[in-house]
Amino acid sequence: MKEQDCLRRFLFEELGLRGEWVRLEHSWQQAKQYQGLSCGVQEKLGQAMAAASLLSATIKFEGAMIMQAEGNGPLKTLVAQATHDRKIRGLARGKTDMEAGSLLEMMGQGRMVITIDPKKGEPYQGVVALQDDKLAEVISRYFVQSEQLQTQVWLFANETHAAGLFLQELPAQESYKADWERVSLLADTVTEEEMLTLDCEQMLYRLFNEEKVRLYDAEPISFECGCSAEKIESALLTLGEQELQTLLKEQQQINVDCEFCGEKYSFDSVDVQSLLTNQSAQAKSDTRH
Ligand SMILES: [Zn+2]
Repeated sequence: MKEQDCLRRFLFEELGLRGEWVRLEHSWQQAKQYQGLSCGVQEKLGQAMAAASLLSATIKFEGAMIMQAEGNGPLKTLVAQATHDRKIRGLARGKTDMEAGSLLEMMGQGRMVITIDPKKGEPYQGVVALQDDKLAEVISRYFVQSEQLQTQVWLFANETHAAGLFLQELPAQESYKADWERVSLLADTVTEEEMLTLDCEQMLYRLFNEEKVRLYDAEPISFECGCSAEKIESALLTLGEQELQTLLKEQQQINVDCEFCGEKYSFDSVDVQSLLTNQSAQAKSDTRH
């Protein structure tokens, strides 16, 4: 059976370099099934989700890592999220039926915000410019900027699979420039076909058979949205009572479909009234204490 929906880390034992490999199949297909995206947009979202999976390996606490790219091109937004336990989700907004093109052609220029959001504590945000032909170049630059370590990322996706490869020098270790150059040149020979079809071990052998590489156990990845009625309710409350009443007048009930998983939530006037009552009761008790 093919190795799918997992992340594998590896280490070049004699060099100060580490790597990660990821390939998504079911998780990728589930994540995009409600969005009706063209092949071109699927390629970009799949790459973003492979990247989020690679980045999730750096989360050292309970929480999530959210990559959000916003551009001034026809494809406005790409969001990819991964949690510490490798639950992923993602979405695309804008002209989601557009033909395949470079990232620059599809998204234009803008920025990518990477948010590290721990369950406990304050979120941390990093920003990197969106101005490249490939998403992999944006992600590589983010790592170099934020961690000050040589890093390179390769990303591939089609309608059935999404895959990513990551190489980084280890911190606090004298990595020789020549090692980095040799290994990253070898990695650069990887093809889309290989990344989307070969298992991790086969791929490592194909690329680095002269190097001593230690491969760690596979860490499973799955699609899970994490949306809930409570989260939708608190999003609705931010609209304010007046806006909610106007929406209710127009359409009897407020319907919200989760953009990530297609889950449908609806609230009638009774639901909305009780939300508002709870909110004001909560506010009163907060002021009392
Ligand atoms: Zn959802």
